Amino acid sequence: MALQFDKLQGLIPAVVQDVETRKVLMLGFMNVEAYEKTKSEGLVTFFSRSKNRLWTKGETSGNFLEVVEIKEDCDEDTLLIYVKPTGPVCHTGADTCFDETNQGSQFLEHLAGIIKSRKSASADTSYTASLFAKGINKIAQKVGEEAVELVIEAKDDNKELFMGEAADLLFHYLILLEAKGYSLEEVLAVLRARHAAKAK
Ligand code: AMP
Ligand code: ZN
Ligand code: ZN
Ligand code: ZN
Repeated sequence: MALQFDKLQGLIPAVVQDVETRKVLMLGFMNVEAYEKTKSEGLVTFFSRSKNRLWTKGETSGNFLEVVEIKEDCDEDTLLIYVKPTGPVCHTGADTCFDETNQGSQFLEHLAGIIKSRKSASADTSYTASLFAKGINKIAQKVGEEAVELVIEAKDDNKELFMGEAADLLFHYLILLEAKGYSLEEVLAVLRARHAAKAK
């Protein structure tokens, strides 16, 4: 099968997602020409329905969307484009055109995937790989230490230090989960089940 450009206007919707943060950034439409230009130049180009012409996102602002990967949906009538943005995507100056509130856990899962990839990396290539090499007990101990550091910072009111320790704990928590062979998705399933039980 081939990409299904809409029969009336010759357009296909393209969802743009940040490959690193996993935030959904924006949606635009492409005609065949825009799609080909996007592929050949590696910068996202839409067909702007309001401008009625090809529109390379960033052409005036300089905030381009560098293409990392282009995927199609199940029936090839929608594109998903993973990008590295060179600046804020929204004309308001925000990172994304969509509300940020519901876009957090996707990044955690992305990070968990990177942590998983370090499991098979050699210990001298990364801190995470070296922790895996030291084994579960050492990793669990690190989680304990980071938790204590967070508790200490909780008693103070230095936001920067508190955030640093909160991030350390979350990071080492993800490493411990992976070391045990469990996934964040399984933890979320437990939370969802409790939530569902409570909602009844
Ligand atoms: P740019 O492509 O970033 O140089 O922006 C050029 C023009 O496109 C802006 O003046 C806006 O009118 C419009 N625009 C830019 N970014 C977006 C966006 N994320 N969604 C919709 N319109 C946009
Ligand atoms: Zn579809
Ligand atoms: Zn916007
Ligand atoms: Zn710490």
